[in-house]
Amino acid sequence: MSHGTSPRFDVIFDLKNRVPRHVEVPRDEQGHKLNISQYFGINTFGLSQMRDKLPSDVYNKLRSTLEHGKGLDKDIAQVVAHAIKEWALSRGVTHFCHWFQPQTGSTAEKHDAFLTIDDNKLPIEKFSGAQLIQSEPDASSFPSGGMRTTFEARGYTAWDPSSPVFIMEAGGISTLCVPSVFISYHGDALDEKTALVRSVEVLSTRATELLHTIGQTGAKRVVPTLGAEQEYFLIDRAFFNLRPDLVMAGRTLVGGQPPKGQQLEDHYFGSIPARVLAFMAEMEHELYKLGVPVKTRHNEVAPSQFETAPIFEEVNISTDHNQLTMEVLRKVAQRHGMACLLHEKPFAGVNGSGKHNNWSMAISGSSGDLDGQNLLDPGKTPHQNLRFLLVVMAVLKGVHKHAGLLRAGIASSGNDHRLGANEAPPAIISVFLGDMLSRILDDVEKSGKSNESGEAAVIRLGVAKLPEVMKDNTDRNRTSPFAFTGNKFEFRAVGSTASTAFPITLLNAAVADGFAEVTALLKTKMNGKSVDAAIFEVLRELIPQTKAIRFEGNNYSEEWVREAEKRGLPNLRKSPEALKQLVTAASKKMLTETGVFSEAELTSRFHVRLERYVKDIAIEVETLLQIVDTMVLPAALQYHGKLAEGAAAAKAAGFAATPQKESAERIAHLVDLLSTRKKNLSEAFAKADANEDHDAKATILSQEVTTAMLEVRRVCDELEGLVADAMWPLPKYREMLFLS
Ligand code: ADP
Ligand code: MG
Repeated sequence: MSHGTSPRFDVIFDLKNRVPRHVEVPRDEQGHKLNISQYFGINTFGLSQMRDKLPSDVYNKLRSTLEHGKGLDKDIAQVVAHAIKEWALSRGVTHFCHWFQPQTGSTAEKHDAFLTIDDNKLPIEKFSGAQLIQSEPDASSFPSGGMRTTFEARGYTAWDPSSPVFIMEAGGISTLCVPSVFISYHGDALDEKTALVRSVEVLSTRATELLHTIGQTGAKRVVPTLGAEQEYFLIDRAFFNLRPDLVMAGRTLVGGQPPKGQQLEDHYFGSIPARVLAFMAEMEHELYKLGVPVKTRHNEVAPSQFETAPIFEEVNISTDHNQLTMEVLRKVAQRHGMACLLHEKPFAGVNGSGKHNNWSMAISGSSGDLDGQNLLDPGKTPHQNLRFLLVVMAVLKGVHKHAGLLRAGIASSGNDHRLGANEAPPAIISVFLGDMLSRILDDVEKSGKSNESGEAAVIRLGVAKLPEVMKDNTDRNRTSPFAFTGNKFEFRAVGSTASTAFPITLLNAAVADGFAEVTALLKTKMNGKSVDAAIFEVLRELIPQTKAIRFEGNNYSEEWVREAEKRGLPNLRKSPEALKQLVTAASKKMLTETGVFSEAELTSRFHVRLERYVKDIAIEVETLLQIVDTMVLPAALQYHGKLAEGAAAAKAAGFAATPQKESAERIAHLVDLLSTRKKNLSEAFAKADANEDHDAKATILSQEVTTAMLEVRRVCDELEGLVADAMWPLPKYREMLFLS
């Protein structure tokens, strides 16, 4: 049934699509719906399941392996693999895979059946310890940034037992996934997880050293924690399929602004449309089975934009869980006749999507009451509050010294649309602390070199009252890329498609560097003084040094851009210039010193990311040119023809035909203009492409080419506003964003 010449009408009138999908949730034998806690994690085989299923000596050895980060014993692996296989078979699983995170931003998996033919030529299911521990995907087709020479194309994946094995269900098929790291035979990290794990180690070591220095010797480890808020858009799948730009590039490359955008502010926290709620419930249900503790769901600022946020976990686990979340979001959206758009800027002129990385550090595996304490939580005693201020200082130090590097960690073609534009948050990395904490730091700084005891100063400066003060500290600054929010920092500048692994790896490393400085300074101050007095001296010395990175005002303002320049803070608007920060002398020194990356690994990350940027823009340019040639121009010319016919008919009937003529002339002019601008774009692109050097290529792409793309777009968008609605072949913003 066709309702017009434009295919989008068929979609809009296909009401079948607009009914919420019925979502099946697990029930008990009596048919009552189960509580989430009753089925949470049923598709995972983590430590608690292992404790139940493994002989206790094997389980204890496995635990100690995990605690000491050692390789897994072959005999133990055999027993563990057997238990996992039995569990998986009982759940109808036929295949297993090593699930890992190459530098593509997403995950990779290669499935193998448990099926083997035994010595008697009979089929059996088998899963050996060796298969659990290690696998060899063909590494040559993953990005390596030139690190792997062609004669050494092999790499292997190795089980990371700290992240639980899980069963992924899709379309009635169940696959056992073994979370793994991916390394070359020389031990180079080819993936995103290996360096993350290393950064966790160095942060732990250095934070623990600081704790020991201030007398908290019961602390054994410190683990960074992460809760990643995930923003996304949902649109009808039919619309998505009709947009070559969304299919190819994940964002719209043309599209006029609707009369109503987000200016009415009626979407944020508004009631969730029924179809979307059904989607969210099913998505969450899938994630609960996988042990992903999703907690919050709500509408976001833009129309058709939503957010899901989990309960925080150790960064290693939450990084895996965020990858699973993105995968489940995409898959479940399909079942609901929708497409989930994770791109940072799917719609120009409409709010973009980020991934707010809520990050903190917790003491773990310690003796006494230290276990579980959050280092960014002001404590119950003045001494704990001083610890808190020292930790804040280590963070400020690290972020200040490595602001450019942290910017590089979030660079991508998609995120350029947020960071480079006047939209949250800007490309200049700064830290927001909030009124109260800022005032306390200012007071400590001003108190100068007094001789009063640490305790007296604590009381006089109100440090003792920190916890109460912080509790009421509700001030928020939505424009800051890195904000303190009471007991954690929120790294808001991370893009919505990004893996949390790389930005958090760099953050962990930077803060580890900050800890090393703070501890070294503290040790020099401790000569014969009380710890508290020494801490005060350290604070007084470091507060002025880190002042430049602190900013409490409006990060979108032009004044801030000028102010930041005066302060010497880097302002790297586009990815190509930001990425160079990965390979500066300072970055190399810090990252090799902390053992997070070797120099070769770092260089390879620079190349992989730059190459990715070049590919992204190339895809966008080619898609845009195709849209212009095969959709926009034909529609404009067809309408022009109709107007000409109409004008001729009007004239024949004795009318003036002025409106037809005026419209036709305007369209003819725009078609001409579009041809010129299209040519400019092709030429700019060819100029970029002529460079062998990726760096030069990327720079031209980020400047001339993106500008030329925008100019093409402007004409297309004006044509969209003139050509008859029924002839316009692309779904429009008002259709994609406002239909519920
Ligand atoms: P807010 O409303 O202040 O943003 P929420 O409690 O909603 O705070 O938390 C937002 C995100 O921050 C959630 O994912 C939450 O789990 C996470 N979060 C809370 N505490 C911590 C912490 N100590 N470390 C890491 N993430 C945390
Ligand atoms: Mg948010």
